Amino acid sequence: MKKDVRKAVIAGNWKMNLTPSQAKALIEEMKPLVKDAGCDVALCVPYVDLDAALAAAKGSNIRIGAQNCHWAEKGAFTGEISVSMLSEIGTALTILGHSERRQYFGDTDETVNARAKTAIQAGFTVILCVGETLEQREAGITKSFVSGQVKAALQGIEASQMKQVIIAYEPIWAIGTGKTATADQAEEVCGWIRDTVAGLYSPALAEAMTIQYGGSMNAANAAELLAKPNVDGGLIGGASLKANDFAAIVEAASK
Ligand code: PEP
Repeated sequence: MKKDVRKAVIAGNWKMNLTPSQAKALIEEMKPLVKDAGCDVALCVPYVDLDAALAAAKGSNIRIGAQNCHWAEKGAFTGEISVSMLSEIGTALTILGHSERRQYFGDTDETVNARAKTAIQAGFTVILCVGETLEQREAGITKSFVSGQVKAALQGIEASQMKQVIIAYEPIWAIGTGKTATADQAEEVCGWIRDTVAGLYSPALAEAMTIQYGGSMNAANAAELLAKPNVDGGLIGGASLKANDFAAIVEAASK
């Protein structure tokens, strides 16, 4: 992290875990543990947990977000959630393009971009996820693939809107597998992402933006990953479901 030039953000991704009452209980447990954080702290929770999570986090330094949103304002999209629905409930943050959405629910570079444009237009902060498969890494195409995902996700997004964008580099082979990218691997790809953003916009804009690493980040490996200059925080899955583990990562990012 280069904390003097950009914000470190530790965001939890609860995926499809915890009921509203469990969400409330976990946030109550986390609040005192992260209250003095020297970084931004967020939890992206299931839609039906949002109300309970927002109420539990009220007045604290924990920002509550969603894990996806639709690109249309409203309409015949059974099972989807619009940005205005999220907005009215009180959130303005969402993850987009998580590899599980791309892998299991048909999200593509085009739909991720459409979702991002709608959310950003509505004033949301978006955490855009990108990352390669193990096969792509072994084929030596990580740089071109990830850079292509970044370019596609940001198409049509103006420089003035980029303050609302966080990019999360999440190598698919490291998500939920216990296999973390080494700190050098994370640094290398986060650096390529920053270079890509610099090419699309400007070096100054790229230097100011937050780029997270995600993929089995935990209390034991967070400090080493976060010590890298281009790793500005983390998107945390499994370890965000345990108050002490999540708080330890927040503490590592606060130093
Ligand atoms: C994630 O879901 O974004 C993630 C990084 O999961 P995990 O930390 O469990 O690998």
